Parts: sequence; structure tokens; C-alpha cells
Amino acid sequence: MSAPQNGVTTFDLRFKRPNAGDYISPDALHSIEHMLATVLRNSREKDNVVYFGPMGCRTGFYLLTTNLGYEEILELLKECIPVALALDEVPGAKKEECGNYLAHDLEGAKRELIAYLEVLRELGA
Ligand SMILES: [Zn+2]
Repeated sequence: MSAPQNGVTTFDLRFKRPNAGDYISPDALHSIEHMLATVLRNSREKDNVVYFGPMGCRTGFYLLTTNLGYEEILELLKECIPVALALDEVPGAKKEECGNYLAHDLEGAKRELIAYLEVLRELGA
């Protein structure tokens, strides 16, 4: 979490330890982008979600928000990830909706989301 700039706070959602040799696969990264962006934009905090997208290093994602603190983001993610895990297809992944529609991995995305949810749960109830 960095200090707000123009009212927008960036949260670094680190799924992987940097430079540890284990990265999110490109296809899973792409699918998580679609899944969590969709769920966050339909959540109770949708008006405070500015952007959600992948880190180029494939260790996690950026979540840009307004008016939300660390604890609120933690709670929001603990609500939204289970919703994403319940999806039975990647949203917005049709050829006319996505710039690389064959590059998706729903099951791989879910494995990464399950692991990250465990990390979040260990951070606090
Ligand atoms: Zn896409």
C-alpha cells in the first residue's frame, strides 16, 4: 500500500515472493485479471475500485482504489476471491472481448487464488 496520489491508493497484491523462482503462469495471470476485475467491479465497493491488473513480473497484481484502507481491502478480497473461485468460466474471454482469448487457464487461476486466499486469512480474521 502506498500513500494516496490524487485520492487513489495502490495496493500491491503479492501472490508470489519476488525473485524466488516461482511465478504465476502467463495464462493464469491473464485469467485472474479477468476474474477478479469482474468480481471487484461488481462488488459492494465497485465505486471505489479504480483498476485491477497484473504485475509484469508475474508475482501479483495491482489494485487501485479510492477511500479504502488496508483492513477494508483485506475484507473485500476475502469476500471477492471466493466469488471468483465459484466462476465456472473466465468472464470476458470470448474472442470478441479479449485480445488473447486462447491464453487462459481457469484451473491454474483458481489454484493461485486459493493459495492467496490462505495467505490473506493468515494475515487476519
Ligand atoms: Zn484478456
